[in-house]
Amino acid sequence: MDSVVQHQVMRAAGIEAGYGRVQVLWGAGLDVKAKESVVLLGANGAGKTTLLKVIVGLLPAWKGSVQLDPDDVTTWRTDKRVRRGMAYMSEIGVFPGLSIDENLRVGGQFIERSALRIRMEELYAYFPDLAHRRGALAGSLSGGQRKMLGMAKALASSPRLLVMDEPSAGLSPLFVGQVIEVLGKFRESGLAMLIAEQNIAFLDLADRVFTLEGGRIRFEGSVAQLEADDSLHKAYFGLA
Ligand code: ATP
Repeated sequence: MDSVVQHQVMRAAGIEAGYGRVQVLWGAGLDVKAKESVVLLGANGAGKTTLLKVIVGLLPAWKGSVQLDPDDVTTWRTDKRVRRGMAYMSEIGVFPGLSIDENLRVGGQFIERSALRIRMEELYAYFPDLAHRRGALAGSLSGGQRKMLGMAKALASSPRLLVMDEPSAGLSPLFVGQVIEVLGKFRESGLAMLIAEQNIAFLDLADRVFTLEGGRIRFEGSVAQLEADDSLHKAYFGLA
């Protein structure tokens, strides 16, 4: 990433949210700048999924705001946010009963047909294993391939910002390495990314890191700053 001042693609500020009467987020916020790759680190139950759901509009914010440059999208439905350039990959990610090709069409449903055709060919070039099996049902793929399809499906809409919930979930270290490698290519292409993870291997992709604990952001900074902080180092790198 160069040192030129980058404009913000997305900013979530002061988010309070939860389920029923249970409050999970207590004023959490983060931002992603153009071409920036941000990793949101947190343990199980810290509230990462909840924060991402508020950012993409799957869960309402009780308080706070979400900006998707140049709009305040806090009250927008998810599909409108997607049309304006946000894409979301949940932990589940794909429709098992649809083919690879059909999954990509669902992911790209809001873009114009001819643009989608071109986009799908671009994506098949990034994901050659999927290109060879376009008609295969997503449910017949291995866990690693399914994850690749989940990414491709989210990317089918040519987003400005890709929001991903634990891309490593359920994957062996070998596949985690492959996921990181392919995300690295999209990072190089200038795609802004927000990746929620508990696997520190994803820090390889991070221009900036936020840590979430108990529904609050505890740290924001570079990977080097995270590593330099003794208590955070212990918490996330597991070293005494
Ligand atoms: P994980 O890695 O386990 O997904 P996370 O950091 O993404 O963790 P969340 O899934 O956001 O955490 O969950 C935060 C808290 O909210 C947890 O205590 C969880 O039990 C609770 N929670 C999550 N979903 C619901 C729900 N649908 N109803 C009630 N409580 C929920």
